[in-house]
Amino acid sequence: MYLKSLELTGFKSFAKKSALHFNAQVTAIVGPNGSGKSNVAEAFRFVLGEQSIKSMRGKRTEDLIWSGGEGSARGNRASVKLVFDNSKKLLNIDFDEVTLERVIHRDSLSEYFINGSQVRLRDIVELLTGAHIGSSGHHIISQGEADRILNANIRERREMVEDALGLKIFQYKREESERKLEKTRQNMEKVESLRKEIAPHIKFLKKQVERVEKTIALREELKNLYKEYLKRESEYLATTEKALTDEGAVPRKDLEKLERELTSAKTVLESSKHRDVKSSDLISLESKLKEARETRDEITRAEGRIEGEIGSLEKILVREKTTANTEIATVEWSKVKTLIDSVDELLGDMNAVAKIRALFKSFLDSNKHAKSENRIGEIEKEIKILETKKKSADKGAGEIDMELSRLSREYNLLQKDIEKEKDTSRDAEKTMFRIMAVENEVRGRLSVLRVREDEIRLEKEDFKREVAEGVTLIGRDVYAYESDEKTLVPEERRVQEERRKNLERIKVRLEDSGGVSAGDVMKEFKETTERDEFLAREINDLEKSAQSLTNLIKELEEKLDTLFGEGISKINKQFKDFFALMFGGGSASLSVVKEKKRRKVALSPEEMMEIGIDVAPEDEEETELGLDINVNLPRKKIKGLEMLSGGERALTSIALLFAVSQVNPPPFIILDETDAALDEANSKKYGDMVENLSKHSQLIVITHNRETMSRAGVLYGITMGREGHSKLLSIAFNEALSVAKK
Ligand code: ATP
Repeated sequence: MYLKSLELTGFKSFAKKSALHFNAQVTAIVGPNGSGKSNVAEAFRFVLGEQSIKSMRGKRTEDLIWSGGEGSARGNRASVKLVFDNSKKLLNIDFDEVTLERVIHRDSLSEYFINGSQVRLRDIVELLTGAHIGSSGHHIISQGEADRILNANIRERREMVEDALGLKIFQYKREESERKLEKTRQNMEKVESLRKEIAPHIKFLKKQVERVEKTIALREELKNLYKEYLKRESEYLATTEKALTDEGAVPRKDLEKLERELTSAKTVLESSKHRDVKSSDLISLESKLKEARETRDEITRAEGRIEGEIGSLEKILVREKTTANTEIATVEWSKVKTLIDSVDELLGDMNAVAKIRALFKSFLDSNKHAKSENRIGEIEKEIKILETKKKSADKGAGEIDMELSRLSREYNLLQKDIEKEKDTSRDAEKTMFRIMAVENEVRGRLSVLRVREDEIRLEKEDFKREVAEGVTLIGRDVYAYESDEKTLVPEERRVQEERRKNLERIKVRLEDSGGVSAGDVMKEFKETTERDEFLAREINDLEKSAQSLTNLIKELEEKLDTLFGEGISKINKQFKDFFALMFGGGSASLSVVKEKKRRKVALSPEEMMEIGIDVAPEDEEETELGLDINVNLPRKKIKGLEMLSGGERALTSIALLFAVSQVNPPPFIILDETDAALDEANSKKYGDMVENLSKHSQLIVITHNRETMSRAGVLYGITMGREGHSKLLSIAFNEALSVAKK
């Protein structure tokens, strides 16, 4: 026995606390019409979590609360407690006795309790489902409901049988898995769309990363080239400088010596007694020539310097021009605003498109790389200034050259004149001529050397600039040139010049690919790809769980199919026996049928518009699995259920209900006047079946039937006084008859 007691307080007609104790396998509840017997059956539904107020004959929740009577005010609260003996662990909870309670108030939702602790409805449902007790269960047959199973359509009938067979728990699991599967699919879609969203960004970042990588490679190439170039250049400058110094040493010494000789020769001549016009001319010619030659030297050097400067400015110019073609230009906001205004003005024009095009072209031309263009202008200006300087230096050089040749001619004439005089008194002059000739030759050699020295000086400055630029572009690494000069393999200067050109080319390419912040791009690319990989893994996981849910659903469906098939054949065995017993012969069975149903696809004209169709779609066809009842009455040719009499319907449904209960006995069954339509002979058979059924399930029967009452171990009488309260009293069988008929 699983049921111990039921306690009603304020529930429907039970205004005051009333308790029924179920000490027997069969408990009968008897009483006159309207005394409140069915309210007891409904109290069972209520406490087990029934959500349909209608199935408890109410419209609103408050219809379930004592509504007041003569001399007694309405209640505000209704509660029903059901106590289970759980020593056999019918309910999956670690208590020997379990009390379920449901309470309602007029103005609030239901409260549920298990052993006094408040729980959710879901907890109650789960606990009961595990014990094969459902709220709207097959085990509570309400008044007039006995033939519900006959009236039901094939699908409803199948559901009732499935419930009775205890398949609900699997269906519940299947539905839950289906819900989870749906949710998983939705999540998959969400993740997929997230991945789709970031895909273009990844593509973009990838391109940026490639640019960054290209820049890094270029920088590396530039670094190596720089190291080699600077190493070579520094060595070249050092050796060339040394060679020039060495080369200049002898002529410089010679020149000093010659100058000394010349000075002493001049002193001799000046102090000579034989000094005349010719010797004075010679002395002044010598100093003019010396002065002119020095001026010429200076001009030559100045020319060299200017040429050098022009050369390096031209190099810078080439680079600036290349950069200008790739640079991002910044344009003042006011200029953009003016452009927009002009476009607005043109909008109405017939030739708007062509004119706007022209407008944009001139806007682009006028704003192209303003910054670089400025710089280019400045450099070009500097070059011009230098060129003017060069021109005036060239002019000066021309003038001095003329002066020099004039002085040379004078010198030659004078020399010839003096040579003619065989007089020894001219020795001093002759010596001076000889010294001057040698000195001229030595000066010439030194002048060539000086030009080369100037060139080297310019090259050194250029080198310093290159080092500074290298440090800015690459870092102090380029200084490595100082370390291992000795390991250099000799090469032609041409190779180094080629290297320099290459260096410039790489610098330009570097500037082209610039503008991307390497660190940021790499970081963002890494983070975004990691996120993408994470999402991909997530999809993979979701796919796996979708697959395992699909498998689980399939397994559950197979299990349901098998259990259902087996259950039906077991029910049929019992059904056949009970039916034959009730009808004294004949046979009955359940058969699984598939019914093709046409489902109307009704669409309103608006809905058809919305999905873009104008011909109404065909109705959809779907198959539905259901249960049919076949009856074969003894001595009659009746086959259809519709042709049965009221009593025959009652007998058939009782046979079926009992058969189902026999196959999978619920812990208790409540039968509310299921026997109402039976005649005396059938009442006896019904009584036999009740007794049979009570071997497996505890029974609570509400009845007016004497035969049924006689099978009960405990009898409760319910009466209702004038005040409208239902009152419970435990009675003996003898009293029962009189109570029932009052
Ligand atoms: P029958 O033998 O005719 O089937 P019954 O014993 O099953 O009768 P019920 O249908 O259980 O009787 O009881 C109905 C009675 O309960 C009615 O008199 C009805 O007024 C009363 N009742 C129902 N709800 C309430 C309520 N909320 N407050 C007070 N009385 C109520």
